[in-house]
Order: sequence, then structure tokens, then C-alpha cells
Amino acid sequence: MPRNKSQDQIARDLEQTAWNLLVQSCPLLFRGRDSYGFECNSGWFDIIATLCHDIEKLIAEMPEIERFHEPQWGGEFMYGIAQVKEKYGTLRFYMHSEPDGAQDLIEAAEIASSKTCEFCGKPGEIRRLSWIRTLCDEDYEAIRPPPKE
Ligand SMILES: [Zn+2]
Repeated sequence: MPRNKSQDQIARDLEQTAWNLLVQSCPLLFRGRDSYGFECNSGWFDIIATLCHDIEKLIAEMPEIERFHEPQWGGEFMYGIAQVKEKYGTLRFYMHSEPDGAQDLIEAAEIASSKTCEFCGKPGEIRRLSWIRTLCDEDYEAIRPPPKE
């Protein structure tokens, strides 16, 4: 059954709320922000949430003196988030500087994203047309141009 507009809006609002709660639950990684501009779709939410919480723990375990190094990059703290986005079909997760152990976690999340539909979170694979996205069969069929007759 097709959803009407208000149901779509409710779904989008709920997704935004989930992203905001994730940001607020990682105050070191996101430096006390209430929200953050994630440049990918919500199918990767679980992958990103797990990664953020694991990295938040790594930052929390760092010695204070190291953690709160002088602000750099225009007032941003060293061990804060720099950018989270989709690029060439997979997740990219950038920090200004990574705590020890974070690189392995980030790489594992990027690999997981290459097997997870960016739209819905179901198992997916990398699809190459004029764009590259990681999608499940259903979302790929819905988005790809019809085959030429
Ligand atoms: Zn999907």
C-alpha cells in the first residue's frame, strides 16, 4: 500500500530523531552538538551508530591531557568528527585525528557498508550505473533506469 505524504513525513522525522539521539549519545565525538549533517541514507544507521559508540568509548578512555589538546582546524577539537558520507557506494567516516584503535573500527564499518543497502539496511551489494551505490535488489530495481527496449 502506498504511504501518504504525512506518513512519509513522520518516517523522515523519526529517522532524524534517531540520528539526533545518536549524536547526543556521543558528546565527545560530536563535541556536544545536538545534530549533525550525515551525508548518507538511513540504511546504514546501525553500522554508523555502532561505530560512533565504539569510538566514543575510545575517546573517553584517552587521558584528559591528550583528549583535550588545543583546538585545531578552526576551533574543532582533534578527536572530533570531521565528515560522514557516502562515496563511491560505501561509507566514509573522517575524524580530524583518530584515537588508537579507531582506524580498524572505521575500516570494518566501511566494509560492512559495502554489503548493506544504504536505503533500507537489508543485505545489499555495490551497483554500478552512472552512479555507484550499495543497494538491496528491491531498492536497486526501484531506482535504476528501465532497460532499453
Ligand atoms: Zn534496500
